[in-house]
This record gives sequence, C-alpha cells and structure tokens, in this order.
Amino acid sequence: MSRIAEKIDLKDLSPSDLGAFLSSFGRERYRTSQILRWLYQKDVSSFEAMTNLSRRFREELAQVSRISSLEPVRVEASRDGTRKFLFRLEDGNQIESVLIVDKDRLTLCVSTQVGCALGCRFCLTGTLGWKRDLRPSEIVNQVLAVRETLQGKACITNIVLMGMGEPLANYNNTVRAIQLLAHPDAFKFSSRRVTLSTAGLVTELDRLAREKISFRLAVSLNAADDETRTLLMPINRRYPLKKLLNACRRFPLKPRTRITFEYVMLDGVNDSPEDAKRLLKLLRGIPSKVNLIPLNEAPGIPFKRPSEENVRVFQEILMRGGLTAIVRASKGADISAACGQLLAKG
Ligand code: SAH
Ligand code: SF4
Repeated sequence: MSRIAEKIDLKDLSPSDLGAFLSSFGRERYRTSQILRWLYQKDVSSFEAMTNLSRRFREELAQVSRISSLEPVRVEASRDGTRKFLFRLEDGNQIESVLIVDKDRLTLCVSTQVGCALGCRFCLTGTLGWKRDLRPSEIVNQVLAVRETLQGKACITNIVLMGMGEPLANYNNTVRAIQLLAHPDAFKFSSRRVTLSTAGLVTELDRLAREKISFRLAVSLNAADDETRTLLMPINRRYPLKKLLNACRRFPLKPRTRITFEYVMLDGVNDSPEDAKRLLKLLRGIPSKVNLIPLNEAPGIPFKRPSEENVRVFQEILMRGGLTAIVRASKGADISAACGQLLAKG
C-alpha cells in the first residue's frame, strides 16, 4: 500500500467523525469548525494554508492525514448551457458530474458510484455494471472542483445525487457526503436544495428515515405495474411496487414537502393513458409530485422516446387527477449529459 493511501483523507470524514479524529489529538472542539471551513468554504488543499492552526498542529495533522482534490480532465459545454465534467480518480476510474443552468438555479448533478449494479434497461450507466463505490471525499470533491471552475462568478444553488450510480447502494458514504453538504461550517446547503434520487432500495430507505439528516427524496418509479417495472428495473423483483410505495408512505417528510417520483417515458412501454391512470391510483395518499422524463435515446438502449402528444396526454391525466406533474426537459443531450447518458468514457 502506498504511503498516500495510509493517510486518512480528511474529506472522507463526516463532521462528527472529524471531531472525533481531532479529539484524538487532544484538540479543542472549535478546531473542527475551523478545519471544516478551510476545507469546504475556503477550498484549501494544504495544511500550511490553515493559518489559524499552530504550526505544530498542522505538522501533526500532515503526518497522519491528507487532503484530496479532484480536477476535471475534460469539460464539455452544451448549446443549452449545460456543462459536463469528466474526472479521473486516483485509481484511474472515471466519473462524470453535470452542471445544469435553469433560470436562477445552478444545479450540480453528482455521481455516487463508478457504474451501477442495478442494470436498469433504459440507462447507459446501468450497462457499465458496477465498478466501485465512491468515497465521501470523491462525492464532495466533485462539488468543490466544479465550484472552482465558476471562479466566484456564480454559485451552485442545488445538488442532486442523480449522476452515475445508486446512492443508497453506497449508503454510508452517501450519508457522510450529505452531512457535509448540509453542515453550517461546510457547504451549508439547505435541506431543500439537496435531492437524493433512488431506484427504490427499501431496506436502505427505511434506514435513511432514521438518520438525522434532511434532504429531498426522489424515487425512480418508471412504471405503474410490477410486470413492466420488473422488465425495466430488475430491482423491482426484490422490492416490488407495493413494498416500495409503503416505504414511501412511512418516510418522514417535513411539512409541505413531497416525494418526487421520476418516470422515464418509453414509447409503447409505459406511456399509455392506462398507465397514467394506474400511476394516479398508486400514488394516492402520498404527498407527491411526478417528473416525467421522455427517454433520452442512446445506442444500445432498446427503447424509443414517446411522441410529444403521448407525453402531453399522460401529463394531463395526472394533472386532472390532482397530481403535480411536470415534463422534465432533459438538458445537455448534445454532449451526452442528460439523465441516463453518463458513461464517463475518456
Ligand atoms: N440511481 C438513481 C440515481 C441516478 S439515475 C436512480 O435511478 O434514481 C437518475 C435518473 O435518471 C433516474 O430517475 C433514472 O430513471 C433517469 N434515467 C436513467 N436513464 C435514463 C434515460 N436514458 N433517459 C431519461 N432518464 C433516464
Ligand atoms: Fe443505476 Fe439509476 Fe441507472 Fe438504474 S437508472 S441503472 S439505478 S443509475
């Protein structure tokens, strides 16, 4: 094992883990806040720069720990303003993040795994298979690296954990990353501005419900009956619709918040008026809103995007039934940065 790998990467530690780590040096509690601010608000990448810590303490820290960072190896810009960042990790694996501009919002879509094991049939990331989980540092370093490219001219306003990977299949590291995103001494994102999207791992959803973290929850539903959902998302065999929706019903939501249900629309597969009616029925009683995402087609994906008319009719049925349903215009398709198009090819 190389020396670098033996040292603790400070960005792998949640705020409370960092506190515990520092107390093992016999240091005061407020040092945790100071170091969090250096790492996540002032973007320092060396211990020398942490000028409010004594030289001795900085040396002690540098002996046992390190500060990792990421640099994009390629940035592509779409005609609609979307930017896609390719990162090479220390072990040579590659991941992507996507920055989406939408009126006054600047949303960064970050990855949580290299590839994904769940193999949804309409998703390019799924065709890669699972390579490995990202460490918390690798999740938050995507935010820091993209923020640096903005050079203070704009602020990332929202984070969505919707890039490559299934966040709940990398549970502990995703939770640590969310703790850093939310912490007032770290990124300070309000809970309304961080969204976790899951394909519906029920055991992990229940576990997540007991964590002391808050964020917005999005669930990729993609079908309104088990047969179709199993065809599209093999995970539906383990967690069929009834189990998944019951977990959503039990999920503790803050007042006035709702679960977003994502529904990728596939021509002739899940886009009929009957599907819309079934969806309405399924979501009854759950504070919900639906994001309809017309499929982003890609070579190797055996489905087609439905006609605009089908999408409109589907949306209307939901809305007439009292659901909020929006059609999500996928951005960045010309640079393969739209939902489900992330492959991280160098
Ligand atoms: N694994 C998580 C988060 C990453 S996928 C999840 O599945 O929720 C993020 C979103 O992209 C999901 O809602 C998924 O349904 C959608 N998606 C995947 N492939 C797509 C494609 N080809 N076209 C449109 N949306 C797609
Ligand atoms: Fe994985 Fe999400 Fe893609 Fe399914 S849609 S393969 S869960 S990344």
